[in-house]
Amino acid sequence: MDTILGQVLRNAVWERLDMLSDLAERADAPSLVSVARSELPRLTEAWKAILRSHEPDERGDCPTCSTRWRRCKAPCSVWQAAHEHLVAGGLAPHPPHQRDHRSAQHQPRPAVHPGRRALRAGVSTAGLHSG
Ligand SMILES: [Zn+2]
Repeated sequence: MDTILGQVLRNAVWERLDMLSDLAERADAPSLVSVARSELPRLTEAWKAILRSHEPDERGDCPTCSTRWRRCKAPCSVWQAAHEHLVAGGLAPHPPHQRDHRSAQHQPRPAVHPGRRALRAGVSTAGLHSG
């Protein structure tokens, strides 16, 4: 059951992000302003919450990514991704068609799960057992 709930939770987050990406590409200007005002603070708070849990400890290791047996030096992959997408990416804007190509290359996303489509179509989550 926990696996299914975890899957439902992850699907909900992926769908939210997909929806925001779609809005950014397609919405008219007034809608974009409205969405930006409501969603940008949520996105920045989400990033801050994630990054806080990956702040280096006094030894310069990430406490979240480190295990008892294997230390993970900061900046960990979460901070590297944050820098790449929030700072480095912001310095080098690309035309939309190039950016799409680039993001497809550099943002490995899990393939669309059968369960995601099923959920979107309102099919029972029972199908997630096989996935
Ligand atoms: Zn980390």
